[in-house]
Order: sequence, then structure tokens, then C-alpha cells
Amino acid sequence: MTKNWEKNIRKVVPYVPGEQPNKANMIKLNTNENPYPPAPGVFGALRAFDTDGLRRYPDPTAHVLVKAIADHYGLEEAQVFVGVGSDDVLAMCFMTFFNSGQPILFPDITYSFYDVWAEEFRIPYQQIPLDEDFQIRPGDYVVENGGIIFPNPNAPTGNLIPLETVEEIVKKNPDVIVIVDEAYIDFGGVSALPLIEKYDNVLVVQTFSKSRSMAGMRIGYAMAQPQLIKYLNDVKYSFNSYTMNPLTITLGAAAVADEVYFQETTKKIIATRERTKAALRELGYVFGDSMSNFLFVTHPALSMEQLFEDLKRKDIYVRHFKRPERIRNYLRISIGTDAEMDILLEALRHYPD
Ligand SMILES: *Cc1c(COP(=O)(O)O)cnc(C)c1O
Repeated sequence: MTKNWEKNIRKVVPYVPGEQPNKANMIKLNTNENPYPPAPGVFGALRAFDTDGLRRYPDPTAHVLVKAIADHYGLEEAQVFVGVGSDDVLAMCFMTFFNSGQPILFPDITYSFYDVWAEEFRIPYQQIPLDEDFQIRPGDYVVENGGIIFPNPNAPTGNLIPLETVEEIVKKNPDVIVIVDEAYIDFGGVSALPLIEKYDNVLVVQTFSKSRSMAGMRIGYAMAQPQLIKYLNDVKYSFNSYTMNPLTITLGAAAVADEVYFQETTKKIIATRERTKAALRELGYVFGDSMSNFLFVTHPALSMEQLFEDLKRKDIYVRHFKRPERIRNYLRISIGTDAEMDILLEALRHYPD
């Protein structure tokens, strides 16, 4: 018997994050984490952290972190919004900006949290098919809509669209908000950040989880004109004033300060990615020209679902998506250290023997 209260429950199909096994010698290439530790300055800031201060509520504006990000990008503090990972920032964006009742648009193959938020917040949406090479066709986004969001580079394909294409989408949609999710932009892409000075309807969202080696700390941020940031803050303060804790604020600011380390580690990951591309190509794998810290690969003669299971048995974790059907024979492989990629490549060289 279904209870009456059942019909008043908000029922959602949750987002399923990649698994987080914790084994001694595993090779973990399944959630696009950075293989290198956070910047040395983060360790210093952690040692100097004043635990007595934890009895107080944090600064609700997370000023120290907002200022560090604003200074880093040459922005006003009023142009920066911070949240508990970009997942939190993006959820706030969905709540704040997508209220027209018209369907919002995003690619059919993309970050699988977008449709989850749309369902959760009762936002109608339309998934726009990528072309046969998994590329965004900008013309598809010039229709009546309630807002647009896409990652650049896209996930899980790694494909990048040029800044001019992003601008075209923003320019042709002046009546709605366009969100560019740049979780992977630091691995060789060109950021749409300059567009925020020119257009009042664009937000650029980035994260500390990938290029800044701090997925566990949960820091994401949005950059836009002050008016949009104010609307975001109003919604956030109506939800939970204290989303950012003092340790996160302090360590986040320390991470931004270390530009040299950031450049060094992202360059290393890009070099490892390009080397891995060459090795995989030699083994007959097929993939797009990823500009992120992962590769989205298939093989004409192999079942990727089977390979996923077989690698897992060797404690090599990669990501397989069962949906949509079009990407069922693909694996998403995060870029680890050179040593980790060598172990993966060695396993692939002998596969399936
Ligand atoms: C990883 C990722 C995010 C979320 O990152 P956070 O850890 O929540 O900052 C957002 N968008 C895309 C496309 C991602 O891959």
C-alpha cells in the first residue's frame, strides 16, 4: 500500500559519482583527480591554521578566498562567487538563473549532473545531440530557450570549442544566461573569462578539484558581471550562509597564490596526456583530441565494458558510462603520473592475454 505522503516526496534519480576505492597500490584514473599533491603553500597554511578559531562561524562572504581569486584573474571581488566545489556553484546557478519555464539547453553527451539538477529543480531541459565526432554544433543553440550550459572542454569527451564559438553562442542568446563550465580549461584550452567584461549574460565556472589538486577540499567559483554574482549570493544566503568553512577558505587562498607550482603541474599533465595519446594510438585505440586531463577512448575490436572490468580486477580504475547508448563502447581515462600511465599502457599492450 502506497502511503499518502508518498505523493508529496521529491523523488529524484541521483547523480552517481565515480567510485572512490582506497587500495594501497591501485591506479586510480576514474574521477579526473590530479595525480600531484596540492601546492606546497597549502601545507604551510595548514600547519599555521588556527584551530581555536573553529568555534566561530566562518566569514559568510569567504572574503579571503574571493579576494585571492579576484586578484589572480584581475577582477573585482564583486565579480566572483565561491561555493563548495563547482557542483555547489552550478546547482546555485541552476536555481538562480533558469526560471523562465522554457527548456534550458545542454549537449546530450555531457556532465551527467546537468539533467539531475534540472530534474531536481523542475527545470525543463532539452539535450542537444553532439555531431558524429562528439562536437558541439553552435548553430543548434540558436533557438528559443531558457538558458544554456555546457562544459568547455566538454566532459566526458575532452573536446574543446574555440573562444569564438563560445562567444557566438553567448552573443546569439542575449536574453538568457549562458554558463560555461570550465572544469578542465587549465589543461590547454582558452578560457571564456574575457567575455564577462563584454557580455552581461555569461558566467564562467571553474574548480580547484582538477588543475589545483584539491578535489577533497571542495572549492568552485563563478566569474561574471557583479549583477549576476549578486543574484547568486542572494540565493546562496537564502539557502545556507556558511557554505565555505574557514579551513577551506584559508587553504584555497594559499593554493591560488602558488602560480609557479600550478603551471608546473598542469604542464606535466599535458605532456603525459600527449605521450599517452601517442601510445594508445599505436595500440589501435581511437579518441578525439582531448584538451582536458582525461582521454575518451574506444577500440574497434574490443569491448570497453569488458576492458573496464578486466582493468578493475588489476586495481586499475577507469570510468565506463552505460548511458547514453552512443558512448557505451568508450572509456574515460584520467591522466595520472607518467609511472601510472606506463602501468596502464603495459596492461593494455598485453590485453586481452
Ligand atoms: C569535475 C567536474 C565538475 C565538478 O567539480 P567540483 O569537484 O564539484 O568542483 C563540474 N563540471 C564538470 C564538467 C566536471 O568534470
